[in-house]
Amino acid sequence: MYFRRKLLEDLPQENTKIWSCKKDDCTGWIRDNFAFEYVPTCHQCLSPMISSVKMLPLLANSNINMKSLNKGRQIS
Ligand SMILES: [Zn+2]
Repeated sequence: MYFRRKLLEDLPQENTKIWSCKKDDCTGWIRDNFAFEYVPTCHQCLSPMISSVKMLPLLANSNINMKSLNKGRQIS
């Protein structure tokens, strides 16, 4: 029995903004947790990345914390 796998499947998922590699044969992608003011570069093949959307399991807390941080934080 694969109880752990079942648990993972039951996690709620949401469309998450990500950056994915422009190259079709490259699997590189990153979460769009940070407000990029430039196009990020793929860490695998150094190609430019394109903004995309991916279904990902909701992160229990780090995502929410990140959002509130982004709202309230000031650059000193
Ligand atoms: Zn790549």
